[in-house]
Amino acid sequence: MKKIEVIQNVLEANETIARRNQQLLDKHKVFVINIMSAPGAGKTSLILQTLKRLKDRLNIAVVEGDVASTVDAEKVQSEAKAVVQINTRNMPESCSLMAAMIESALKDMPLDNIDLILIENVGNLICPAEFALGEHKRVVISSLPEGDDKPTKYPLIFVDADAVIINKMDLLPHVDFDITAFRRSITGLNPEVEVFQISCKTGDGIEKWCSWILEQAKASAARQ
Ligand code: MG
Repeated sequence: MKKIEVIQNVLEANETIARRNQQLLDKHKVFVINIMSAPGAGKTSLILQTLKRLKDRLNIAVVEGDVASTVDAEKVQSEAKAVVQINTRNMPESCSLMAAMIESALKDMPLDNIDLILIENVGNLICPAEFALGEHKRVVISSLPEGDDKPTKYPLIFVDADAVIINKMDLLPHVDFDITAFRRSITGLNPEVEVFQISCKTGDGIEKWCSWILEQAKASAARQ
């Protein structure tokens, strides 16, 4: 019973900071996307493709969350306006970014000169679903080699997603992945969700994803 109370308090404290983050971001007109997936699904690749296509239209910053290393931050460094690496290694909640970590990261960013922040969450389909960061949109990437059963096994992260990206479409001839069944599982959990089929390797579908970002950022700015 006591353990449940502790978890509840952690989640409530996180929500409070997440709301504060979003107020700060709205004040500076910064649109934020929280990108979540299992390890290796293509979060960094998607961020790189997005930077390539949108960096001339938007000032984009990236927050890299990892248990350890700066490998991903180094990859995106040359394309982004600003990059902040967060390593969760010494924290008990190392399986996800938390709102307080984003609050610290925002302090290091020139928010008035940024239009979009892409947050790469820690590779995990469980914890990131629980912790709001102050983002405007939540995106989950699934890739074909992971199999089509992930929405059934880890429903929460799909229920709360604004968009689901199916990555590594170029591998379709080589793997057993039933796209129709996968899409049916997702829309069963979350009828409103946007679904994009892409390949970060070939670039297929990236254009459509980037158009969605531009539309969503515009709609969010209009609401403020
Ligand atoms: Mg990565």
